[in-house]
Amino acid sequence: MSVTIRFCGAARTVTGSCYLFETRAGRFLVDCGMFQGQKTLKELNYGAFPFRAADVDAVLLTHAHIDHSGLLPKLVRNGFAGRIHATRGTIDLCSYMLPDAGSIQESEVLALNRRNTARGRAEVNPIYTQADAIASLQSFTPVEYETWIDVIPGVRARYWNAGHLLGSASIEIEFADENTPGKLMRILASGDIGPDAKLLQPDPDAPAGFDYVICESTYGDRERPATTPAARRARLAEEVREAATRKGALLIPAFAVERTQELLVDLVDLMERGDIPRAPIFLDSPLAIRATEVFRKHAESLDPEVDLRRLLNSTQLRFTETVDESKAIAKLTGFHIVVAASGMCDAGRIRHHLRNWLWNARATVLLVGFQAQGTLGRFLADGARAVRIQGNEIKVAASIRSIDDYSGHADGSELARWIAARRPILRGLFLVHGEEPAIAGLSERISARIIPAARAFQPLLDDIYELSASVPTPLDAARRRRLAPEAVVALDWHNDMSKLVLDINDRIEAAADDRGRGVIIRRLRRALEDS
Ligand SMILES: [Zn+2]
Repeated sequence: MSVTIRFCGAARTVTGSCYLFETRAGRFLVDCGMFQGQKTLKELNYGAFPFRAADVDAVLLTHAHIDHSGLLPKLVRNGFAGRIHATRGTIDLCSYMLPDAGSIQESEVLALNRRNTARGRAEVNPIYTQADAIASLQSFTPVEYETWIDVIPGVRARYWNAGHLLGSASIEIEFADENTPGKLMRILASGDIGPDAKLLQPDPDAPAGFDYVICESTYGDRERPATTPAARRARLAEEVREAATRKGALLIPAFAVERTQELLVDLVDLMERGDIPRAPIFLDSPLAIRATEVFRKHAESLDPEVDLRRLLNSTQLRFTETVDESKAIAKLTGFHIVVAASGMCDAGRIRHHLRNWLWNARATVLLVGFQAQGTLGRFLADGARAVRIQGNEIKVAASIRSIDDYSGHADGSELARWIAARRPILRGLFLVHGEEPAIAGLSERISARIIPAARAFQPLLDDIYELSASVPTPLDAARRRRLAPEAVVALDWHNDMSKLVLDINDRIEAAADDRGRGVIIRRLRRALEDS
């Protein structure tokens, strides 16, 4: 028996979940996500896959988020002809999210090529188009939770509710040994794991007793105060009341799916109870509007205690579908609420609203989810005094706030508990899908108490392991790496560069007079020449 795994994404510090499993009978992927965050990583989306798409026989998809599903249209365009197995909730969400991702890439590449032409650089092609994304939807095939499906000969899989997002799953995979009938190797891929007590979702579920577990670590170094629906609403109400006293826009960059619907439900509920001032709530995202429809459709399978249909029909809610409607919001003054994607502010209509309001001290920006390194949302969360949006430098005068209660991710101790409940884990635990401190934090939490340190692994991008031996054996991947290990681990230089430029601008503007400015520039020039 030979089974190898290649970490084609979601390795240490790298986003974009994608694992390639290979046996003598064939190859399949768990997830085929888009790299997000740092520029160096995003460039990988344009490069070749580290495998031939036509050689892949099947895909097991954990959930619809773009960092798990976003490169599926590229996979299909490059010759993948197998099935993409996913739950119905995931398929419904992907049928809006992937075409939306395709059109975002088309428009981003259009803008990039305009800049490239002006600088005399070569044009680039979008990773895939909206049409590619629509075509890829034909490959999806629905699976039921907790029901075995055949993947490739000798391999079957079963999906368990991961409580992270509508349709999300952890996937149990069983490999039969062709030489020893009845002997099995069992693997669990966590996907993204939801927190306990999440609005609209059950607590994560999965069986126990595996040879290998692959576990995400997004919030591995974080502890969230225990939350209840009442505490979460109280915290949101406090932020909204504070924003209302500033008398400007409250901008909520939201992930189009789930977080947005949770927020809308809470905002409407708070207004109806009179806990926050009444004001129009704009949902300014065609994708989020579609996703809201998917939630209405699946309302029965979600939390029975939330009257989703009634709350989502509130007259306080304004769905702005067209660009003209969206532009009209920009003319508003006074307190109003705008919920727009993307959640990390790196794409979508939220960027236009940020450009309009960030410089204005009357505005509030409320961050409600994980902000990856290198995204505009992360810069804001880290207290940047100025940021660049669409080539313009914009001072940050708005109040930047964040709340954690809407997170779709388990925190450090919830992840540790989830891992503990999967024991025995006989051969190896792979900690993936987290930045350096997050993986280190989770590793510390579980080492010794939950699993011996020698059995926990932190793979880097493009690492390959042979899994059929008694311990996972790394295979030589050095010649096939897309990024040098140092590049993966080191903080992206693009980030350092933009921070440096902003700091220089700041210092020069803050100088007393032109003479002072001249001194700073001469000193910088000298430092450059000395280096
Ligand atoms: Zn996710």
